[in-house]
Amino acid sequence: MADKRYNTILLFGAPGSGKGTQGKILGQIPGFYHQSCGDVFRTLNTKSELGRIFVEYSSKGLLVPDDVTIRMWRENIKAQEILSLYKPDDDLLILDGIPRNVNQAKIMDEYINVLEVVHLICSNEEEMFSRLRKRALKENRVDDAREEVIRRRWKVYMDETKPVLAHYSPSIIKNVDALGSPASVLQHILERIVPIQEKHYRNVLG
Ligand code: ADP
Repeated sequence: MADKRYNTILLFGAPGSGKGTQGKILGQIPGFYHQSCGDVFRTLNTKSELGRIFVEYSSKGLLVPDDVTIRMWRENIKAQEILSLYKPDDDLLILDGIPRNVNQAKIMDEYINVLEVVHLICSNEEEMFSRLRKRALKENRVDDAREEVIRRRWKVYMDETKPVLAHYSPSIIKNVDALGSPASVLQHILERIVPIQEKHYRNVLG
């Protein structure tokens, strides 16, 4: 039986490492479909039950519980597929912000075939915090507004998210320095994922 899992590239990195910035650019290129888990959460009506759960956890810098997160992710990606915004046969899925802990990674193995993990490495914690503070002003994000929440998010990343890397084979992990300029980070990402897309295209063309 053919593998019906979504062919996927994961954008991986700490809060403020630039996953969203890079994901949005990549999503403009035909053949890539970008989906940010945080963005999907932020589009929820904050008066709905799911929206309330999201605000409750994210405003404290905590992860939303796995069952709620995975359910929402699956419903959203299915909807994109039905609307033909995302075409799994043609597009590589660029996932940003999910999986965010080892349990999510295990559950998602059933749905995604991870071809590459782009790991945006930030060696300078303070630089990341400064990016988050700037973003809070620009995007009005509750989770970036308070210093203690920013620091909690960093800790959650180190304790819960970073171990996800060990779930994937080192041969598919590409480390990229997140402190470079957006264009230089993009260049390094493309070096690795353009050949993957070429291969995917050739398979599609048969
Ligand atoms: P950042 O890129 O700064 O880490 P995101 O926009 O990805 O932020 O996520 C914002 C918030 O949404 C997270 O702090 C968390 O509360 C929630 N969230 C996003 N993705 C997930 C996920 N996969 N699992 C649990 N919570 C999530």
